[in-house]
Amino acid sequence: MLEWNSVGTFIAAFTFFFFYHMHGISLGYHRLLSHHSLRIPKWLEYIVVSGAYLAFEGSPIFWVTTHRLHHRYSDHKGDPHSPHDGLWHAFIAWMWDPKVHITDEQSRLLAPDLYRDPVYRLLHCGHTAWHSYLCLGIGIAFRVSIFYAFGPIVLAANLCATALAFVGPLLVNSVCHLQRFGYETYKCGDDSRNVLPIALLTMGEGWHNNHHAFPQSVRHGLTEREFDATWVSVCILKALHLADHIHLPKNQCHVAFTEKSKETAKSK
Ligand SMILES: [Zn+2]
Ligand SMILES: [Zn+2]
Repeated sequence: MLEWNSVGTFIAAFTFFFFYHMHGISLGYHRLLSHHSLRIPKWLEYIVVSGAYLAFEGSPIFWVTTHRLHHRYSDHKGDPHSPHDGLWHAFIAWMWDPKVHITDEQSRLLAPDLYRDPVYRLLHCGHTAWHSYLCLGIGIAFRVSIFYAFGPIVLAANLCATALAFVGPLLVNSVCHLQRFGYETYKCGDDSRNVLPIALLTMGEGWHNNHHAFPQSVRHGLTEREFDATWVSVCILKALHLADHIHLPKNQCHVAFTEKSKETAKSK
């Protein structure tokens, strides 16, 4: 039988690592690197981004390139992970059986900002499969270090937190693009949806229809009912003078344009 101390250690470590890895994905890879939704000091950016890298999300350039393509072709030909190509494909199979092959040249065109950073360039290994092997190797070394430094309970907590954080963006890519779930606030010309349980799990990423309507907004939950934990973290960073250049949806221009475009397309 587990002692209470062990349970307490597990819960504390799980909470810490889930925040670390999920923020790495939501705040780091997504809102910071992919969309430049805010700016934070470079040393802090590396710490935040490391949470995603150590959750086996692949190199920052790989993640950002894939995500920018997703926004460019959402639910149309060229989208790397749309449920239109099958739910299993959108969830995870796109990783080993991609419908969209990104060349080195495309990668450089899609993420020139990240190629300017020597650390991100190094982790990408020249746009070869080695970036995923390197990510896997460093991730395993990180967990071996946790085991020797803190023992098996903390390691178990980290593994559970990592698995949950890893699944988060996969659910966003698949379930948040299925019309039978959640709701659509904005007409964006794709199937993106706002899905409450996924938003709670992913610290706000599940407000995906809002995100497709305002891709650069750092805030994804836009109403009082749409709790966005990552936005709360951004507010804390701002209060500590650690975040600026914060982008918010200023008006309905993008949506109005999209709706107008759809109406025009329908009338033709
Ligand atoms: Zn999407
Ligand atoms: Zn995005």
